[in-house]
Amino acid sequence: MTLKVLKFGGSSLADAEHYQKVANIIKSEEARRYIVASAPGKRYSGDEKVTDLLYKSFKLASENAGVGDVFEKIENRYNKIIEDLGITFNLEEKIEEIAANVSSQKTADYLLSRGEYLNAMILAKYLDFEFIDAREGIFFFQDGTLDVEKTNLRLREILANHRRAVIPGFYGALPDGTIKTFSRGGSDITGAIVARAVNADIYENWTDVSGLMVADPRYVDNPKPIDKITYKELRELSYMGATVLHEDALFPVKKTRIPVNIKNTNEPAAKGTMIVSEIAEDNAEHIITGIAGKVGFSSINIEKDMMNSEIGFGMKVLEVLRKYGISFEHIPTGIDTMSVVVNTSSIIECKEAVIADLNDAVRPDHIEIEDGIAMIAIVGRSMIKSKSIAARIFRALAAPGINIKLIDQGSSRLNIIIGIDENDYILALKSIYGELIEKEQ
Ligand code: ASP
Repeated sequence: MTLKVLKFGGSSLADAEHYQKVANIIKSEEARRYIVASAPGKRYSGDEKVTDLLYKSFKLASENAGVGDVFEKIENRYNKIIEDLGITFNLEEKIEEIAANVSSQKTADYLLSRGEYLNAMILAKYLDFEFIDAREGIFFFQDGTLDVEKTNLRLREILANHRRAVIPGFYGALPDGTIKTFSRGGSDITGAIVARAVNADIYENWTDVSGLMVADPRYVDNPKPIDKITYKELRELSYMGATVLHEDALFPVKKTRIPVNIKNTNEPAAKGTMIVSEIAEDNAEHIITGIAGKVGFSSINIEKDMMNSEIGFGMKVLEVLRKYGISFEHIPTGIDTMSVVVNTSSIIECKEAVIADLNDAVRPDHIEIEDGIAMIAIVGRSMIKSKSIAARIFRALAAPGINIKLIDQGSSRLNIIIGIDENDYILALKSIYGELIEKEQ
């Protein structure tokens, strides 16, 4: 029988109205048995997420500024949900428990995690599901990394005894029992961990959009949704800024090839985006799966005659970057030229020193750092077997007169990455989308 794990994000559990939608979704299928809950998110623009309020209260308390009305606001959020749902839940007792425990915990994590803890308990009560505390089944090593094996075994053992359960997202326990959270948005990871532990047929990640779009809707009008995407393609797009899942959320499900379906709580009938390990029968409508990009890159351009015969040249360049803790993004090279693309923010404070060290290390004929670069990745698993994509991308950029500064293609040939002037960024996105997607419709 099919088994589904569902994770609901903060916007899906922001108020009683959304709780009702969530309950309808869960009750509509017998297979929907394990639920991971986030803390209540924003109800309207300008509203505050409970996790942000908890963080605020921690900051105020640690500055000895008193928590003001922040804690009251949090209590009010939950009280309203409880009242509107018409359930019996002793919130006061739970708030007292939290207040009593706060001082024995070493970091902010305990307090931050209470948003999911309370929300999952209330949801379990509303659904009449079992509540399983994440601290009983999700474990971190003392250094803060996830203890994958222990987590998987323990969680599997616990959930085998419960046919239906709600588990709070975002946190687990350190070896000494204190609470540790994932980074922000980490309930996505909890969902994937639970899906792996119970060997789910599918991990449904419910949010407030109907999946991923081919391009960023802030820049391209009404982009098409992506029906299916591979884990690898998604990784390429997320790296370039397309956000839909926490970036570590795919690792647990990737191991067991569990598909992830991004779904919309406000539009449950929409198919959403299916993220899979591979797509055997590929009848994708377009060769391109998605387009994503980012501004804020700098290119360190180095020229030296006979560079190609100087063994270890690249290593010396990268050694200098390592010394300054700068990670490189791309390294397009020519015979006697080498460019290293980095995030401007990582080099801005130490530009002069990096140039001086590179001059010492490789004695270039010319070296300069060019800022203001935008990178755009055009990603598609079908690109590897199609012929004219590069030509069409260049045509799309040539038409409005956009100058290409860099070109890179990953060895997987899953993507073509181009670097352009930041000022041309939006025009370039629109133009590439027009050429590769709209023209094919
Ligand atoms: N509530 C946490 C956050 O706002 C975790 C999550 O929602 O995934 O980051």
